[in-house]
Amino acid sequence: QRAVMDRTAVVKVGAAASASVCVLVGGVALAQYIVTKKKRAGKKTKIIEMMPQFEKPTVHMRDPERVEQIICGLIKGGASKLQIITDFDMTISKFAVNGKRCPTCHNVIDNCKLVTEEGRQKLLQLKHKYYPIEIDPHLSMEEKFPFMVEWYFKSHSILVEQRLEKDKLPEVVRESDVALREGFEQFFDRLHQHNVPVFIFSAGLGDVLEEIISQAGVYHSNIKVVSNFMDFDDSGVIKGFKGELIHVYNKHDGALRSTEYFKQLRDNSNIILLGDSMGDLSMADGVPNVEHILKIGFLNDKVEERLDNYMDSYDIVLVKDETLEVPNAILQKVL
Ligand code: C5P
Ligand code: MG
Repeated sequence: QRAVMDRTAVVKVGAAASASVCVLVGGVALAQYIVTKKKRAGKKTKIIEMMPQFEKPTVHMRDPERVEQIICGLIKGGASKLQIITDFDMTISKFAVNGKRCPTCHNVIDNCKLVTEEGRQKLLQLKHKYYPIEIDPHLSMEEKFPFMVEWYFKSHSILVEQRLEKDKLPEVVRESDVALREGFEQFFDRLHQHNVPVFIFSAGLGDVLEEIISQAGVYHSNIKVVSNFMDFDDSGVIKGFKGELIHVYNKHDGALRSTEYFKQLRDNSNIILLGDSMGDLSMADGVPNVEHILKIGFLNDKVEERLDNYMDSYDIVLVKDETLEVPNAILQKVL
């Protein structure tokens, strides 16, 4: 009997406590709502305000009204006018999980068991030398350019020395820590359903990239991958790389290299561009007939130093956001 009474008392106290927590949370939410309303007063951003994903603290925009206008243009054009041009490493794939860095396509190989300990050390040293240059906010893209060529030349030579085998790639990818951003299934599945062309333009390793998206079950027929592909000899051992090198800062001539592809997409004059590097901003250069282009940038690293630059160049900057929630919310409106 007493035990029962005690329990009821506990339940009552609990209910009272949770009710006051509710009031508190409600009050905070209301205050936040009033503040954001005030900030936006007089600005015409109707569509953006309809998307709760834009309320996340990870979302930064220099000019929300401009973003609003571009999204309006994308909505008017609908699926038949849309195309996606996206980077891969650290844009479609995650930068970090629980504070631990995730691998790029290159790192999937760097860290795999097929590479000798000596090879791994050399690749790691190269990364420690050149990655800081890649993301240095005080160097221009022109200044970084020769260093990137050097990095790729040296690291690709090591991969050839390691005599990698084509057959081993699926296992290497399966055993890696590579991860795609939250919401990647909706992203690729929706684009596929609506037949929207997706151009994945990556300075990573094409063979690894294709294996990653195949294993994730999203390598649909509407996707075209342009990247650095390995060249294998008759016995399936790497002997070099095909075509011209794509590195982080020569993406401006990508469209020129895929002239046929973009010629066929002449009517897809609305573009959503996704990237994580300043070099990715030029991925749509040379695309004929652009009506509206929305540039979404993931800012993963050196945030304080780079936020200003990113906000000047990308329409929407997503800071340390490991999801595709914002792109997915926009696609939901457009498609
Ligand atoms: O797909 P995306 O164009 O982003 O791929 C390029 C990325 O690959 C760069 O961010 C760069 O840091 C990384 N990279 C690497 N190891 C290399 C060369 C490039 O991790 N040897
Ligand atoms: Mg990238």
